[in-house]
Amino acid sequence: VIDQGTPDRAVLTTCAYCGVGCTFRAEMKGDQLVRMVPAKEGKANRGHSCVKGRFAWGYVNHPDRVLTPLIRARITDPWREVSWDEAFAFTAERFRAIQAAHGTGAIGGITSSRCTNEETFLVQKMIRTVFGNNNIDTCARVCHSPTGYGLKTTFGTSAGTQDFDSVAHADVVLVIGANPTDGHPVFAARLKKRLRQGAKLIVADPRRIDLVQGPHLRAAHHLPLRPGTNVALLTAMAHVIVTEGLTDAAFIAARCDGDAYADWAGFVAQDHLSPEATADLTGVPAADVRAAARLFATGGNGAIYYGLGVTEHSQGSTTVMAIANLAMATGNIGRPGVGVNPLRGQNNVQGSCDMGSFPHEFPGYRHVHDADTRTMLESAWGVPLSGAPGLRIPNMLDAALDGSFRGIYIQGEDLAQSDPNTNHVAAGLSAMDCVVVHDLFLNETARFAHVFLPGSTFLEKDGTFTNAERRINRVRRVMAPKAGLADWQVTQGLANAMGAGWDYPHPERIMAEIAATTPAFANVTYDLLEREGSVQWPCNDAAPLGTPVMHAEGFVRGKGLFVITDYVATDERTGPRFPLLLTTGRVLSQYNVGTQTRRTANTVWHAEDRLEIHPHDAEQRGIAEGDTVRLASRAGETTLRATITDRVAPGVVYTTFHHPDSRANVVTTDNSDWATNCPEYKVTAVQVSRTNAA
Ligand code: SF4
Repeated sequence: VIDQGTPDRAVLTTCAYCGVGCTFRAEMKGDQLVRMVPAKEGKANRGHSCVKGRFAWGYVNHPDRVLTPLIRARITDPWREVSWDEAFAFTAERFRAIQAAHGTGAIGGITSSRCTNEETFLVQKMIRTVFGNNNIDTCARVCHSPTGYGLKTTFGTSAGTQDFDSVAHADVVLVIGANPTDGHPVFAARLKKRLRQGAKLIVADPRRIDLVQGPHLRAAHHLPLRPGTNVALLTAMAHVIVTEGLTDAAFIAARCDGDAYADWAGFVAQDHLSPEATADLTGVPAADVRAAARLFATGGNGAIYYGLGVTEHSQGSTTVMAIANLAMATGNIGRPGVGVNPLRGQNNVQGSCDMGSFPHEFPGYRHVHDADTRTMLESAWGVPLSGAPGLRIPNMLDAALDGSFRGIYIQGEDLAQSDPNTNHVAAGLSAMDCVVVHDLFLNETARFAHVFLPGSTFLEKDGTFTNAERRINRVRRVMAPKAGLADWQVTQGLANAMGAGWDYPHPERIMAEIAATTPAFANVTYDLLEREGSVQWPCNDAAPLGTPVMHAEGFVRGKGLFVITDYVATDERTGPRFPLLLTTGRVLSQYNVGTQTRRTANTVWHAEDRLEIHPHDAEQRGIAEGDTVRLASRAGETTLRATITDRVAPGVVYTTFHHPDSRANVVTTDNSDWATNCPEYKVTAVQVSRTNAA
């Protein structure tokens, strides 16, 4: 039952699922939420919503929520309910004991992209100023860290270039490695509206996603590339654009580094990178690649939207830079209707990265090596800061296995379910002396925890989220935190138990500190957000009301930098034992590992993860629709039921990862992006067989 009566008040707040960041009116009766109504004043959604934001909030009241802090000496002991103060004291004592025995760097933490800017800012501040190291990472490590690396290298800043309104001015849209219909539904609706008005669509995806052919829509080109060949395909498109003289020479001359462009143009023009030479590798007919490249270069305003099908590869960062190259070569940067637009998965993945959740960067993407930034922050925070980059999540787990990393604070992230090679994650967590899980539910990671700190849902939060278009939206408290403390208070309590002496009275004070120390946020205040509804960073004296379109006059780095993008095949190879390639994605009604959506009434819409397999591959293996099949890789194996469909090409299988029972990440490997360690979830060599096969 969704509708529970007539509301007596409403609170304007922001959806906590995907990176679209829809604004909702939370309608309340007393202290009970009656319904969520999409708000017309929301600049990201303009009155629209999807099923998740509108209906999937029942988890807030789910009986599985843990509302009392828990501790235990060993992970084999039963949990013991304790007060907040006892939980903080227990944790502080363990962390300090670890540091005394194994050094300052033996502990660290992870921020959550589900939490507010203010909450993630405090966690990274605690790690840097109280733990005394830079061992801080974020769940963005496993999704969009290559976006940060690739866009910072080419353009100078780690963010999408446009606002969502921009799509209304696009003439040609390239969607690569993204399925907006399921992953970013409200943006997908705005894109489809533009396509119905006549804009042309190119889809590069191994799977025939809905955008390829749906009601009243048909993509001009579908490039069904073999998983793992994004770089080869994008370079082949660039080859066509350069060798056929379709570049925007004036834009390149005025806005880009000329030497780098000359090197890049010479590189992509090589014969062995042409669509014809790479057709066998990518699996895409050369004529289709040529036609798509010509359309993108000559069809008017060209916009590129991409998702995890770009980033979660061993060449994720290279692919992001190949996309940036394509946009610069065709002059598609710096005005409405164009640009490079990562579709961010989580509600605040942009914000958690902005807030300094990386081991090598302070808030605002300033390197820890940067002495001026360090001096400024040391003055603001009153403690010396380390200039040595800390450990990333995979390095923390590796260091746990060699005994040098022994304690971790995990804010709202289920490492044991969502990170690749589950067996390795479990071994790393098991080797630690103090694992602190700060979350809503006793998740898979909590099986390895010594301390559980109850978290608060978005309805219990006050603060801000930053969406995929850099839009800072207010999150307003709809109800009191059910566990007694908001998440920022929990971090403050733990930091103070370790001697910090913080006294933040409200998240607004934290935002004031963010603005004072982070140039891109310099003019952001809750008063401004109240007046404007939301603003897009950079928001400072140069842009007092924010910046919808970036790089309009010049790139943040000065001249745009073309980067040579050599294709390097993933180590994950098919062979006789593992002849198929597995890739993964999402469905509309579920969200990530399903922690929240599975605890709402919408579970019936997608009750299990299925394995999609092409009819040819199914017939070869004697697999019928609905059969339970064994899915095995070099890393592990699991079982799923089969769906036989030609949405996937022969040789490719596909599944979602929303249900713990499917254990999809048991089969994914340790391979990762060369620059950022983002796991290669999208390419795994597998074998599929009937469970009762000989
Ligand atoms: Fe929430 Fe994203 Fe759906 Fe909007 S599109 S309601 S932000 S899940």
